[in-house]
Amino acid sequence: MGGKEKMIHVAEPDITKEDTLAVANVMNSNWISGTSPKVSEFEQKFAKYHNCKYGVATGSGSTALHLALVVLGVGKGDEVIIPDFTMVACANAVSYLGAKPVFVDANVDTWCMEDTLIEKAITKKTKAIMPVHIYGHPCNMKYLEDLKEDHDIKIVEDCAEAHGAEYNGRKVGSFGDCGVFSFYANKIITTGEGGLLITNDEALAEKAQWYKAHCFGRGGKHFWHDKIGFGYRMSGLQATLGISQLERIDHYVEQRRSRAKMYMNMLAGLAHVGKIKFPVQKRLVKNVYWMFSILVNPEKFGMTRDKLMIKLANDGIETRTMFYPMHIQPPYKTTEKFPVADFLCKNGLNLPSGNNLTQFQVNKICERILYYGTDIEDMQKKTEEHS
Ligand SMILES: *Cc1c(COP(=O)(O)O)cnc(C)c1O
Repeated sequence: MGGKEKMIHVAEPDITKEDTLAVANVMNSNWISGTSPKVSEFEQKFAKYHNCKYGVATGSGSTALHLALVVLGVGKGDEVIIPDFTMVACANAVSYLGAKPVFVDANVDTWCMEDTLIEKAITKKTKAIMPVHIYGHPCNMKYLEDLKEDHDIKIVEDCAEAHGAEYNGRKVGSFGDCGVFSFYANKIITTGEGGLLITNDEALAEKAQWYKAHCFGRGGKHFWHDKIGFGYRMSGLQATLGISQLERIDHYVEQRRSRAKMYMNMLAGLAHVGKIKFPVQKRLVKNVYWMFSILVNPEKFGMTRDKLMIKLANDGIETRTMFYPMHIQPPYKTTEKFPVADFLCKNGLNLPSGNNLTQFQVNKICERILYYGTDIEDMQKKTEEHS
């Protein structure tokens, strides 16, 4: 099957002629470093898109997460509540500071942290909570805002996978003390590598700008450093690509949502009989389906997720397993139980979701999944119904 055709990848960036031209122009202008005016332009535009006052661009989402925790004062002995089911950058950002990541299991529908477990994880040492809008589904921000009011806790939203996602009509990233984004090549808009922190707190933004570039001189002394800062600047080239990509962010979000709808329409039969399970879109939220993912029920589907992956790969369709939860990763191994994260890890499958994914490709992917998931008895029943 399809050996000669091009592989359909899980995620591919969409770099247009306009993007290329913009970057070429800025190269000709020589404004390529992290002090390029293009960087502040991108920071301002990206923050404005989220109705936030300030933006601080960095070299990656991971560094932006670390920076956020630094400026919020997280340090040794503190605890930060993060999802067990997430990308490792969240846990690492906490660990860099000598603080302890406290893992919370996922909700079986949204795949984000389970609300009720968050409150249970709060202790006297809890300094911050890092809600992650997993695969583009926003967390319950009302619940988190209420928690913040009851406890003296900071909130850092990890929006790496949720560009343009909304909770109650408001974009994610604007709820927490700060929101952090990634522009890695597989994210909804990209700068190749890159990250950005947004906030409405002027002092926090200034502190982040200072720390991201080695806490360079105050009071006229350039090479004077009062604190240990970081080399976390974004380059002018990356920012220029970001500005150009930002022009199309709404288009990309709509693209993801419409492809998700297509997947769900075409695979509805399998979902209806419980062979697979779709991502949800809870009340009050706009899911941007960064990675359109399904859960495979091996008993009903007739094969495991891993077997389906291999079959699809042979058909020229690349898929990816969901995250391995933090509690089984060597640096973070614990004996605590996280049954939902384990379940997602075992049965979850990211289907191709890139910005350039065509309807034709979605058709092909669904046709193959339907083929593998439809057993002969089903087909016979259908034939009988029709005759
Ligand atoms: C991609 C991602 C990051 C890290 O971003 P980088 O830009 O790759 O450093 C952090 N958190 C989540 C949830 C991500 O998906």
